[in-house]
Amino acid sequence: MRKKEKVIVRRALDYNPENIKKIVREGLGEFGLSSKVKGRITIKPNVVMAHHKVAPSAFTRPEFLNGLLGALTDGKKDTQKIVLAEKTGAGLPTTRMFRRAGYYNLKKKYRIKLVPIEESRKRTIRLQKGEVHEEVTTAREIVDNDFLVYAPKLKSNVLCQGLTAAIKLNMGLLLDRKRLWNHNFNLDKKIADLLEVGFPDFIATDAIEISLGGNQLTQHGRRLGIILMATNPVAHDVVCSHILHLDPEHIQYLRLAQERGYGSLSLDDIEIKGDIPLEEIRQKTKNLDLGVVRVDEVNCNIRTIAGEPYCPGGCHGIFLDWLYMFKDRKPELWKNLPAWTVVIGKHSGDVSASKLMVIGTCSEIQGKVRARKKRKIRGCPPRHKDLVLLFFLKAGILNPLFRFDIIIDAYFFLFISWCKRFIKGRL
Ligand code: SF4
Repeated sequence: MRKKEKVIVRRALDYNPENIKKIVREGLGEFGLSSKVKGRITIKPNVVMAHHKVAPSAFTRPEFLNGLLGALTDGKKDTQKIVLAEKTGAGLPTTRMFRRAGYYNLKKKYRIKLVPIEESRKRTIRLQKGEVHEEVTTAREIVDNDFLVYAPKLKSNVLCQGLTAAIKLNMGLLLDRKRLWNHNFNLDKKIADLLEVGFPDFIATDAIEISLGGNQLTQHGRRLGIILMATNPVAHDVVCSHILHLDPEHIQYLRLAQERGYGSLSLDDIEIKGDIPLEEIRQKTKNLDLGVVRVDEVNCNIRTIAGEPYCPGGCHGIFLDWLYMFKDRKPELWKNLPAWTVVIGKHSGDVSASKLMVIGTCSEIQGKVRARKKRKIRGCPPRHKDLVLLFFLKAGILNPLFRFDIIIDAYFFLFISWCKRFIKGRL
């Protein structure tokens, strides 16, 4: 009989680090891992973006990591070397996001090292099962360690059929150029490829406050009051998808992970333990709207025409994410956005519009175009930050992320980070 993978779900009503420490310590014990927590330990959190005003719920909270670090270091005096490694969203410098996320206090308290992956010493791993990536270059600490811990934040994400949990965390192993490469209809294959490099020994998930319903960066947090722990990321994500009322069979990267032998998508193959039944959690989440729709179905002033290919992980999804930034952070503007028509992908047919924006390098209109104003944004796909900037410059639309402090982070501090890498020979 096939051995069942275990996922532990524990109640944690608030971000009390002592309570989190106790829960994680008990979880490590239940998985028989307590004695393995030693040597070089790498923790990979989710810090895709952190900002007190516009992205307060996008990242693993420092209080959660405080409890996790407490559990990992409990009673062990200087026997471990702990690093916390991450690469934030494309076009943002990780050091700034570590600071905005409040991780520097953890650095002082636990004497850990914060490793921005783009500035670190790298290792390149050739993949055996990769369909998109033949090799992956990431921080040495991700592939060369004694114990790898993933600390994701449970979130919804419209780019990948609704779920960001343990497996999707692997996108943060990639440097910007490779991260955006094939970030289109191939995104699910990319994510599945990365499991060959990023397969944690232990997962502890911050689901005390989950975030959902809009853009993965700007959406609002909602108290769920649980911590999940597992050793198999597929089993972990299957339980997370059921928590969010998603069918794991419909999440393509999970289906690919199963096909490649990383784990089963059936709940029958998973033993769920802990002190809160899955059904009780699902009752709390049953009416939550994850916002997972096609971009041309969104009901707002901007009309979107979706051509082929439809790229949920590319231009279509990223534009939907751009729209959701208004819903999340400027709801008064959401229904009153200027009346642009946006075409994404190859569209067969005529288009008549007052103001027309075409998004995506491959996008074109195979028919007659009648428009007073016509603009194009290139990229396959364009980055979130490009859409924010170029929609301002080309259409005069001010996105909630168009803020002075974020512009300084995304351009000035990114340049500083590039200089550091250049000087150290780590580009
Ligand atoms: S440019 Fe075309 S293929 Fe690339 S992400 Fe956009 S729509 Fe998809």
